[in-house]
Amino acid sequence: MRLQFLGATETVTGSKYCLSQGDHSWLIDCGLFQGLKELRRRNWHRLPVDEAKLDAVLLTHAHIDHTGYLPVLVKHGFEGPIYASAPTIELCKLMLPDAGYIQEEDARFAATKGFSKHASPQALYTYDDAVRSLKQLTPVVDCEWLDLSPGVRAMYRPSGHILGSRFINISVEEKHRHFNIFFGGDIGRYDALIAIDPGKVKSVTYLLLEATYGEKLHPEEDVYARFEKIIMETVARGGKVLIPAFAVSRTQQILYILRKLENEGRLPPVPIYLNSPLAIDATSVYKQFIHEQNFFSNGTPTEDVFHPSRLTMVHEASASKHLNHLEGPAIIISSSGMLIGGRILHHLKYYLPDPASTLVLTGFQAEGTRGRALLDGAKSIKVHGQDVAVRAHIEFVESLSAHGDWKDIMRWLKGFERPPHTTFLIHGEQSALGALKQKIEDELRWNVVIPRYFDRVDL
Ligand SMILES: [Zn+2]
Repeated sequence: MRLQFLGATETVTGSKYCLSQGDHSWLIDCGLFQGLKELRRRNWHRLPVDEAKLDAVLLTHAHIDHTGYLPVLVKHGFEGPIYASAPTIELCKLMLPDAGYIQEEDARFAATKGFSKHASPQALYTYDDAVRSLKQLTPVVDCEWLDLSPGVRAMYRPSGHILGSRFINISVEEKHRHFNIFFGGDIGRYDALIAIDPGKVKSVTYLLLEATYGEKLHPEEDVYARFEKIIMETVARGGKVLIPAFAVSRTQQILYILRKLENEGRLPPVPIYLNSPLAIDATSVYKQFIHEQNFFSNGTPTEDVFHPSRLTMVHEASASKHLNHLEGPAIIISSSGMLIGGRILHHLKYYLPDPASTLVLTGFQAEGTRGRALLDGAKSIKVHGQDVAVRAHIEFVESLSAHGDWKDIMRWLKGFERPPHTTFLIHGEQSALGALKQKIEDELRWNVVIPRYFDRVDL
């Protein structure tokens, strides 16, 4: 059995790992490279695999950096099943076509602005390409073996990162030898708002482990009190609370917080708008799989858990524009989370110059984004080619991340009954990988390897 690293090596996007044995080969995760141009360019290079001959793709979870390359794989001839948990399939049905649409928009925008080096900039894939790839999605039942080939089988188990995320354990019987390869996907946090704790693991021969927060700790803060204070103060000033949020996971966390504050009488009676069709649809999936959330088993009433009573879902673009002329205080949740695009941009033009309003950044803000500029104290930012003055209050709620920090990861690893033969550290920037490697070696004395792009290992 051979393992090749086709992404998320020394970086946090593009997760793709190829397992091959004889005539069989499988891809575990099929993510898009995102962020820096140099990384995004890799999405255009052919993979060192024959897509038409791949047996199957196995997905850990729905995030685009783990699934967003699927339409390309299908365009290049892959016809096999794409195995995933039922919620992951529902989320992919929303996220992949949306990713295709955004890429078409970006290509069109580059063409009209003329800033692309290409005469006619192309989308990596289109909305239609993405829709075509969805037909191959095949649901997998948790905790049951799935035969992949004679001697090779896979088992999915809940992992606790976002809705639908799973660990994938691949068991291999080879000439009197038995071993397993464990794909952790992204590791969630303990005691998260809505996601379950990372699942327990006993024995693993080869472990693929993420290191996104390998050198960082999430701040310990009371998010309910934080939101309560921000909302109370903004409402007292008569302003709007603008919350840019990622459509999957972050939006549902915020709705959950608002509902809980309301239940406890800590939310002023102001209208709340969810202005993102993708986030609205993703919230429906979260409701459909309510039994997968951590609060389901501890007796919390699950009805309307993502639905504060004054919430209005804004589907139509025309209704979205209406939100720019609201009288009085309101809470507006919209995407994108880093202010790269989406409906939130229109609201920025109206409410960023308003000293009574507050913009609440709720997640990681990558370099080069408007979100980062605001975090760094920009006095004005460009939106749709126009300068927008920043007079609104800017708040940053850092503690809602869906990734475990290094303490969460170490806690999870300490639950293993015996050390893996090899732990491959992936999905992290170089410094985070180095820091986590050091911690695992010092505290657990495990054998840790940091693979590089396209590295191949015989298992
Ligand atoms: Zn993820």
